[in-house]
Amino acid sequence: MKHCPACSNESFELLIDFGTIPKSGVYLDSPEAPFPTIHLAHEFCTACGLIRQKAIESGSHDYSLVDRVTTRQFPKYIDQIIRSLSSYGIALDDTIIEIGSNDGGFLDRLSNAGFSRLIGIEPSIACNEISRSKGHAIISAHWDENTAASVLNEHGAARAVICRHTLEHVPHPLEFLRAIRSILAPDGIVFIEVPDARPITHDLRGHELWDEHLHIFTKTNLQLIMRQAGFEVTRCNAWPERSDINLLLWARADAGPSQNSLPDSAAAPASEIQLCREFEKRWKAFSSRLQVEAASWPRPVYMLGASHPQTNFVHFTGLESSIDAFLDDNPAKANLLIPLARPTPIFQASKLLADPAPGTIIRSAFGYEDWMDRATAPLASESTTVVKPLTNQLS
Ligand SMILES: [Zn+2]
Repeated sequence: MKHCPACSNESFELLIDFGTIPKSGVYLDSPEAPFPTIHLAHEFCTACGLIRQKAIESGSHDYSLVDRVTTRQFPKYIDQIIRSLSSYGIALDDTIIEIGSNDGGFLDRLSNAGFSRLIGIEPSIACNEISRSKGHAIISAHWDENTAASVLNEHGAARAVICRHTLEHVPHPLEFLRAIRSILAPDGIVFIEVPDARPITHDLRGHELWDEHLHIFTKTNLQLIMRQAGFEVTRCNAWPERSDINLLLWARADAGPSQNSLPDSAAAPASEIQLCREFEKRWKAFSSRLQVEAASWPRPVYMLGASHPQTNFVHFTGLESSIDAFLDDNPAKANLLIPLARPTPIFQASKLLADPAPGTIIRSAFGYEDWMDRATAPLASESTTVVKPLTNQLS
């Protein structure tokens, strides 16, 4: 897989190499428990700026046993996406396929809006149990040309395909999109949603370089790969959501003569490529500043949040020895440990009330300002040091 799936260019340069770190999403039930590691490094296409993992491990894209549900994370614009289907002429009894249907949360919304012929495609066994319990028709599979062929054979072409926050997880995004193209009716519409790469390179949000995201797109290269896959892009918007930006793209099956040919300008703006070239240097400078600060943080130091953005942040900045505990109210993580330099406990936020005040709190539950305000309110009168880590990046 040498060439770029978005623009076919073969020249990639290193974005950053984080070395070998524990895989994200791994929680230990004892300090001695073993955990898997990954050598995490990213590269970028020097023509279109597409960021991808340098070595994509086999099996890294198997989500059969992943049980993470995303329904509670729906963005505010979800109803607008559903309304857009009608504006593209999708009728209530048209076949709509959602690829990466997770626990059926978006299918619920479609069903509530009156759409009646819905099919979800999802590999996660645990998520599919939830979807089916709600009455949804689900095919347990990873999406590829074989799955597409059997869906087409059994259900016919789709008038709409929805694929939210899935394309960035797959090892072969061009083939994945071509498989979508193969099941789309000639007048069909596809909706794709992915995170925007720009906060990473523009705002130095390096913790977003998650090991589950194999490719990270910008507006430019997302549109390029859609055209490569045989679609005609009708809309592509960048929408802020919490502390991130998502790209929302609508496209039609392109039956015109320009199918599969590249648009006139396949190149990203030079400034985008330059930001990729400077990323590692900027991230290391930021990390060094933070490590110097961390040496004077009063102990114990608690980090807000115990998900991949927080563990990424700690590993990527080299703060492993500076963190004493993570605070997270997800009951599934209670009493577990995170593999850092030494396995580090996860506490519920109520711990802040029960124990002497921590020396330092890091406001690292990025995008969850309300929860952080509530969790830290009891400390208002204490002498706890509060660190807002991202504000350091731009200083
Ligand atoms: Zn490219």
